[in-house]
Amino acid sequence: MADQKLLEKYAELALKTGVNLQKDQALVINSSIEGADFTRIVAKKAYDLGAKNVHINWTDDELTLLKFQYASEGVLTDIPEWQVAKHLDFAEDGAALLAIRSTNPDLLKDIDPGKVAKANKASGEAMKEFRQYTMNDRIPWSIISIPTGDWAQKIFPDKSKEDAIESLWDQIFKIVRVDQEDPVSAWDQHNNTLKKARNFLNKKSYKALVFKSEGTDIRFELPEGHIWKGGAAQTPNGNAFNPNMPTEEVFTVPHKYKVDGKVTATKPLVYGGNMIDGFTLTFKEGKVVDFEAEQGYETLKHLLETDEGATRLGELALVPHASPISQSGLIFYNTLFDENASCHIALGKAYPTNLEGGSDMDEEALDKHGVNDSLTHVDFMIGSADLDIDGETSDGSTEPVFRKGAWAIDFNE
Ligand code: ZN
Ligand code: ZN
Repeated sequence: MADQKLLEKYAELALKTGVNLQKDQALVINSSIEGADFTRIVAKKAYDLGAKNVHINWTDDELTLLKFQYASEGVLTDIPEWQVAKHLDFAEDGAALLAIRSTNPDLLKDIDPGKVAKANKASGEAMKEFRQYTMNDRIPWSIISIPTGDWAQKIFPDKSKEDAIESLWDQIFKIVRVDQEDPVSAWDQHNNTLKKARNFLNKKSYKALVFKSEGTDIRFELPEGHIWKGGAAQTPNGNAFNPNMPTEEVFTVPHKYKVDGKVTATKPLVYGGNMIDGFTLTFKEGKVVDFEAEQGYETLKHLLETDEGATRLGELALVPHASPISQSGLIFYNTLFDENASCHIALGKAYPTNLEGGSDMDEEALDKHGVNDSLTHVDFMIGSADLDIDGETSDGSTEPVFRKGAWAIDFNE
């Protein structure tokens, strides 16, 4: 088990910088029972900080697996109303939501991918209304991770379970800056750096970005009025929170009908308890028209078949190849970490907050502006040390944005 002091610092960071918990606010935590010790530390800290209620939604990998093995498809796709109502109740009350993720990336590898896809789709449909709260920043929310045995041993296959967990804790503490003297102020500083990058890009308002690297040659047009975000987000009443810890990205919305070219993934993608690796996607007018995968072809196929929006893009994110996470040299098999080590794009729903006035638009208006809708949102990594990105300005000229995986721009000028 990790150092008690560091665990407490991590819990405090998640509550202060992550969800920015306010006095008399309710806190909902999604956690696995394997993470119960840490979750109790978070709950205690939350009450200390003035939470009026801490509610935990427990999950358990083994029970999830049993359900997929034994329960009928009817049961797996029938999401009870009370389960949805519980989430909506808390959201309407303005609760903060903290997700503590620690899932085994191979959990559902022996389950029929079609069954998993149907269950994911059903839960996506049932939670559509609730997702409006998080995807529009109406409530503060944050995702963090803690190690579990299976996940840690996937990253460190040569280590014993205990040693692997220990090593993963060390990595996580470093990556989320908990090993620093004052993590909260380290995060303020980090958020400031990301703010400079997004301010620059917002001022530039590029018409399109063109990505070129080995296996990738693609042009993403950006909708008029697109907004770059990154680092801290804000609730409608002005409370800053950090949706992802770690986070190293600035991101915006690519035009759902104006993406053309081919991308090659540079890291494996874990989706629905299955791994997709060595894959490419070809886009025409924003839509995936061809795809290949060395591993997990069926899972990728089911992901793309979720709905029409799953074949189009909802996010484009820039991360320098030299980010602290890629410097660790590890593949985490966990999107929260891997996406912050690499430029990435996401299939599926876009964040309406990435468009001027987008939060107040209905789906039809968002579609007109080129903002994608879907039941799913899945990031995958396309950054590398040889990635060049050019920005097309509205007058048709181009300028370097990334060279060899790093910013070609000095934000401090
Ligand atoms: Zn992202
Ligand atoms: Zn994303």
